[in-house]
Amino acid sequence: MKVVLKNLTKIFPSRNKKQGDEVIAVNNFDFEIPDGKLIGLLGPSGCGKSTTLYMISGLQKPSSGRIFFGDDDVTDLSPENRGIGLVFQNYALYPHMTVKQNILFPLQNLKGKDRMSKDEMLEQAYNVAKLVQIDNLMERKPSELSGGQQQRVAIARALAKMPRVLLLDEPLSNLDARLRLQTREEIRRIQRETKITTVFVTHDQEEAMSISDMIVVMKLGVIQQIGKPQDVYDDPKNLFVAKFLGTPPINVFKGQVKSGVLYLDRDAVLKCPGVPDKDVFVGIRPEGFIPDPKGALHCALSSVEVMGRDVSVVSTHPASLNPLVRSIIDADVQPALGTREVTFSVKPHKIFLFDAETEERIVL
Ligand code: ATP
Repeated sequence: MKVVLKNLTKIFPSRNKKQGDEVIAVNNFDFEIPDGKLIGLLGPSGCGKSTTLYMISGLQKPSSGRIFFGDDDVTDLSPENRGIGLVFQNYALYPHMTVKQNILFPLQNLKGKDRMSKDEMLEQAYNVAKLVQIDNLMERKPSELSGGQQQRVAIARALAKMPRVLLLDEPLSNLDARLRLQTREEIRRIQRETKITTVFVTHDQEEAMSISDMIVVMKLGVIQQIGKPQDVYDDPKNLFVAKFLGTPPINVFKGQVKSGVLYLDRDAVLKCPGVPDKDVFVGIRPEGFIPDPKGALHCALSSVEVMGRDVSVVSTHPASLNPLVRSIIDADVQPALGTREVTFSVKPHKIFLFDAETEERIVL
């Protein structure tokens, strides 16, 4: 089921005059989620991710704009009539019910032509329980389950009605690091098997990048960029997107373009013909540095951190906007580093220029 948002906007009025202006939580969203894909809504706290999800679910009414599931305009439908499955961060299971009863609950409330017999309901409950691999826990209460298992039950409950669209609001936030990784792989598997169009909200860029077919990067209610995770990482539209994606984060420098050459302080690091003389911000991905005695970028070496497969060379540079410059070097090709200075050449496709005023990317 394809989902289309057309000029979707949500404005929260200010509670009182002293608190200032109204909040435009979601500003004119216009995009299509292709049928059967998993899309990650990604951005820092307050950027409007949950509000977007709640409007798709029907829990919140848009101030303007329309929402379509396939060709159906669902904007004015209640959540029950949209055919959605919702999973929250805190699982929201009924504590007094067993796992089986929790999964059966939405099926027992089906009305009209959707009503199911008892046997059909049980069969469906076991089918989804098997899918999320909790069919051996059906008689337990939520308090007798781990966090990861509880979240699987919540997903099974959301899937029981075979929703047209699955909506996940920070579903992994309450899990510890290992379970988070495991559960996110599970969600990906379940989504691939069921092919249900899924919207996944997270503030964690790594999570969004690893799980999504497409990510929507948002800031203060405005879409910054939409695309495949790797494409957005490799080709960020502005400084915000470049900084938001990637661990360790991109290194940002203040630079100047003079006569078609990019300078970081006194280091002439890149030819950029056609770019007029101006101040720029420069982003270099950690994997974009090559230790090179003849390299143009001269940094003062702070430390070398061995991380197994890779080595992190930590240094400083007068044009860096961060206290430290972090580069990731393949441990196999790690050359002998000087004790005081380290010089790098820079991989051209790992260096990005941004206008110093607008912070928009200058495409070379
Ligand atoms: P988080 O990751 O912290 O959950 P988010 O990206 O999901 O953040 P939203 O919860 O969608 O962000 O909020 C977007 C903006 O709308 C924020 O500025 C928030 O304060 C505001 N907002 C959300 N709900 C309401 C409300 N009911 N009344 C007024 N303002 C609201």
